[in-house]
Amino acid sequence: MSEQKKKIERLTGVKGMNDILPADAPLWEFFEATVRSLLKSYGYQNIRTPIVEHTQLFTRGIGEVTDIVEKEMYSFTDALNGEKLTLRPENTAAVVRASIEHNLLYDGPKRLWYVGPMFRHERPQRGRYRQFHQVGVEALGFAGPDADAEIIMMCQRLWDDLGLTGIRLEINSLGQADERAAHRRELIAYLEQHADRLDEDGKRRLHTNPLRVLDTKNPAMQELVDNAPRLLDFLGEASLAHFEGLQRLLRENNIPHKINPRLVRGLDYYNLTVFEWVTDQLGSQGTVAGGGRYDPLVEQLGGKPAPSCGWAMGVERILELLKDAQRVPEPDGCDIYVVHQGEPARIRAFIAAERLRDAGLDVILHCSADGGPASFKSQMKRADASGAAYAVIIGDDEVAADNATVKPLRGAQAGDADAAGASQQQSVAFDALAEHLIERMTA
Ligand code: ATP
Ligand code: MG
Repeated sequence: MSEQKKKIERLTGVKGMNDILPADAPLWEFFEATVRSLLKSYGYQNIRTPIVEHTQLFTRGIGEVTDIVEKEMYSFTDALNGEKLTLRPENTAAVVRASIEHNLLYDGPKRLWYVGPMFRHERPQRGRYRQFHQVGVEALGFAGPDADAEIIMMCQRLWDDLGLTGIRLEINSLGQADERAAHRRELIAYLEQHADRLDEDGKRRLHTNPLRVLDTKNPAMQELVDNAPRLLDFLGEASLAHFEGLQRLLRENNIPHKINPRLVRGLDYYNLTVFEWVTDQLGSQGTVAGGGRYDPLVEQLGGKPAPSCGWAMGVERILELLKDAQRVPEPDGCDIYVVHQGEPARIRAFIAAERLRDAGLDVILHCSADGGPASFKSQMKRADASGAAYAVIIGDDEVAADNATVKPLRGAQAGDADAAGASQQQSVAFDALAEHLIERMTA
């Protein structure tokens, strides 16, 4: 019988769901650290909710006639108990659900933020993935336009902190339910008159959710929606005052903004303020963040009414901008690479590495791929490639003399590195190693 080896099929990741590789880690970490410190400076607290929720949360929270609920959700039936579940396509509904469930608003309003993966079954393309990441904030229990202005200005500050330019702010007001109802009647009448020019989505939404028709990305329908009745013309005094209050705060703080009467946002829960941050630098996926006010949502999900607003931003799109602007941080190498040869030296090296870490240094201890001994030369090659500032060398001689050899590498201080060579090697007593290295590294 032939012993022919079966070729093992190589598995791949799921389409539209990306691996974030070590080469990109410094960029993600830079972004996350910048966001975290910015949100802290505005008094926002982090909240982490599960990635899976009951499907009903999203159908009720986001609205039945939306892109997300109609065609983008990853929903499944729990094989064990038959529950209908969904991978979160966005996180506002879940944050509100958690706030109600744990009574977070019992002692007043809350400022919350989150970061994490979201899932939408879309056609993958640049800036549009099936698993992507959002950072978001939710200001729960604040009614006034100052909360809207604050969350908008946080974005501006973030662009500044990240060193990004060319991201523009567009705002609009969706008013209140009765104002939208009055507008809706006229909008339906208008769209019915032009029914022949509506695409399939438009026809379907004409009677279920006509405002969404204005949200279309279909170029063939742009003229039609440009000339449609404007919701802004249907707003009453209170809604206009809120909108004007927001604009005033933005003006006073020198935040340029454009009113875009067509901006309606893709989710049903918004009222009054809506906004988007857009750029021309990303092709057709130019919206980097979007948000607005969603006063009815808390009550709609079973909580005590609490007017609220928030935004979500697409991390991948912002990282793309950072790459284009060459705002990519240098990878952070480790401090020390420990090389060793011989059995007593191997044990010593292990102890040395732990002691150096105790002293706060970042240390890579050489381990050979096959578990066997490796030449000094090949170990030093690895040490150089690691980006470490110094190699600590321990061999039989060092064990016998109770010391270690310290050698500057490419990542060392200028003075050490310039003259790097054999002469720069230095013997250091084993017990004084940490102190010696810290002194040299901070010199
Ligand atoms: P779009 O109009 O681009 O589909 P959206 O209105 O569906 O966006 P939101 O639900 O407002 O997007 O999400 C907020 C932000 O999250 C978007 O502005 C975008 O930056 C990002 N985002 C949304 N969907 C994706 C995706 N599939 N892949 C990557 N980023 C996304
Ligand atoms: Mg979308």
